[in-house]
Amino acid sequence: MAERYAVIGNPVAHSRSPWIHAEFARATRQDIDYGRIEAALGAFERAVDEFRAAGGRGANVTAPFKEAAFRYCGAAVSDRAREARAVNTLVFEAARVSGDNTDGAGLLRDLTANLGRPIAGKRVLLMGAGGAAQGVLGPLLAAGPARLAVANRTADKARALAQRFQGAVGGGFGDFRDEQFDLLINATSAGLANEAPPLQKAAFAPGALAYDMVYGRDTPFLALARASGAEAHDGSGMLVEQAAEAFLVWRGLRPRTAAVLAALRKR
Ligand code: NDP
Repeated sequence: MAERYAVIGNPVAHSRSPWIHAEFARATRQDIDYGRIEAALGAFERAVDEFRAAGGRGANVTAPFKEAAFRYCGAAVSDRAREARAVNTLVFEAARVSGDNTDGAGLLRDLTANLGRPIAGKRVLLMGAGGAAQGVLGPLLAAGPARLAVANRTADKARALAQRFQGAVGGGFGDFRDEQFDLLINATSAGLANEAPPLQKAAFAPGALAYDMVYGRDTPFLALARASGAEAHDGSGMLVEQAAEAFLVWRGLRPRTAAVLAALRKR
């Protein structure tokens, strides 16, 4: 019988994860059934308990529940989830539950393996201070950038996030107004509202790469990046790579991602 997995979020109807995991399962000949669970706000724990009781083997967690998932796991979290204080991958084994965070690994793999952009020695601007920014800051720092600035609309949130990590500097967008960056990563949800973070064209260094974690649409940030001469990419690659990393955690093998990413882009 197929082993059951699901993505839990609110809203979750738009999620591409069921399709991605079905593609991975077909390619690797794994018998899994991956669905969607929309948990009511404030009812994340109950939704997880019910899915476990119904035989679920694992789940991905998306907005706004990644921090609730971290708390749900107690001490049973991976180092990268502990560092992020957020969980996007749950593993259920009998009475035990454990949590991991694959967002950072997914972003790093897309940037370095798929897009051929090493981070070492580069000036990096990470925009946003929510769950997505939290998940990727540690892995980005571990890759050895020359500078890592975290800018957020609510500056204090970026300062507090950066303070948790050695080597990062946080503030409002104005604090980094006079700087140029080689890699600009938009981890805000501004693109969903058809808005861009307040950046000047001069922020994009010659040859810069701009990355918007929002996927499946051309955002004002990506348009600004192209107008500034930068190479621009949406978050489809991160989505597929974080899913492959979760599949590895659950099934013990890492699916190939290139064909799934190409097919996702055509959908
Ligand atoms: P959160 O709600 O936790 O955080 C949202 C962030 O966006 C905050 O920093 C917020 O700033 C900022 N923000 C929202 N609107 C604007 C705006 N109009 N202008 C400037 N900043 C704004 O969301 P997440 O961190 O969980 O997710 C962020 C985005 O990343 C989502 O759109 C999500 O779809 C995407 N994502 C993609 C993934 C992928 O695999 N491709 C994985 C994870 C996330 P403030 O603090 O001031 O409110």
